[in-house]
Amino acid sequence: MKGPASANPLVIKFGGTSVGGGAAFGRAASIAAEAARERPVAVVVSAMSGVTNLLLGHAAGVVDRDGVVAGELRGALAERHLRAVREVVAPERRAEVERRVLALLDELVETIERPAESVKARRAGIAVFGERLSAEVLAGAIARAGVPAEVVAADPIATDRRFDEAEVDVDETERRCSRYIAPVLGGGGVAVVPGFVGRAPDGSPTTLGRGGSDLSATVIGRALGSSEVWIMSDVNGVLDADPRLVPDAMLMPRLSYHEAHTFAGLGAKVLHHKTMEPAAEARMTVRVRNTFAPETPGTRISADFADGDGVRCVALRRKVPMEIPCANGRRSETAMVVCIGSPSERDLKLGLRLLRKAKIRFLHAGFASAGLVFVVNGERGEDALRLLHGSLVTADAGVEEVA
Ligand code: ADP
Ligand code: ASP
Ligand code: MG
Repeated sequence: MKGPASANPLVIKFGGTSVGGGAAFGRAASIAAEAARERPVAVVVSAMSGVTNLLLGHAAGVVDRDGVVAGELRGALAERHLRAVREVVAPERRAEVERRVLALLDELVETIERPAESVKARRAGIAVFGERLSAEVLAGAIARAGVPAEVVAADPIATDRRFDEAEVDVDETERRCSRYIAPVLGGGGVAVVPGFVGRAPDGSPTTLGRGGSDLSATVIGRALGSSEVWIMSDVNGVLDADPRLVPDAMLMPRLSYHEAHTFAGLGAKVLHHKTMEPAAEARMTVRVRNTFAPETPGTRISADFADGDGVRCVALRRKVPMEIPCANGRRSETAMVVCIGSPSERDLKLGLRLLRKAKIRFLHAGFASAGLVFVVNGERGEDALRLLHGSLVTADAGVEEVA
């Protein structure tokens, strides 16, 4: 039952870098604890950075020699998580959290040794331990920050049996969230939920797909009747291009659901591609913020915002299945730059002129539902992205963040 004390909880999701080690857990815990002094808070947490890759790598490579390698994996995970526990969990609670972490690691080894019904079921069964482990550490850290916190171990997100990219069962998830999360909130505690993890009808663990903790957050927000979800990451918000490819990418202070959904679908990694679906359906506000600079306003995505004018942001799709014949007779791969938003004929002409001037071969340019598309020689994809970002994206200057 959702009691009044748990009404409209804030959901805060922390990504892998936000819980990368002891210091990061401490920062995340203080953000959660501070928010929980104002309103009920459910936290969704990812695995410590790198841990899901480690688990999936293990799942892929250990068919013959489970015993030996499982021991090594257990040792590596114990080392990392227990170090974080020592750094951020209060001494009086430490032994209990250590015990829970070690019990999970025993369960992981058992899972590795047990035959699974399929390769995908096995991978999911192993991968979910990353989030289960980090949830224990984070709950311990939040308690140290002065607010009671409890791990929700019951996998509240109900899914189908697509183990690697499971589909959420909305009604059953709502029932499970009411049953397993709402009582924690009603009791005044922070509910710490492992992200990424789902539960098939027969109880088997499933996963929501790589990067799926973002989706866990909006799915749980919708189920709990939340009006706001924070996605805490290691960037200041959603930027108008991938900052790893475009160093002068700029913060987008606000986005419509449609813009955020399109950008996430085209590779803005800070949001899992399905994150906006529950948010738009339940008209929740999603704020993307930096765990390491919580004072910065971040990006706000809400029903209050309509699509902006002109080109809003750019995305690069590599290895587009269209090939350019080369002078040497071989065919090279192509890349596609998508200029998302409401571009004009003028943007198209300007883009083409700039590509020609920069001697970037293009195979196709034109309007698509997401915006303006330029298909170029694959080797020059990043150059084209930077060029088009620099000249076509309309600055969102002057937009005030409404606190
Ligand atoms: P988390 O562990 O918090 O989920 P991710 O690595 O999944 O973090 O997503 C954050 C990263 O996404 C950033 O560090 C950044 O490099 C990358 N990224 C790609 N495109 C964008 C974008 N348009 N805006 C912000 N970050 C982006
Ligand atoms: N830990 C999972 C992954 O690495 C889910 C997530 O980080 O959102 O894919
Ligand atoms: Mg992510």
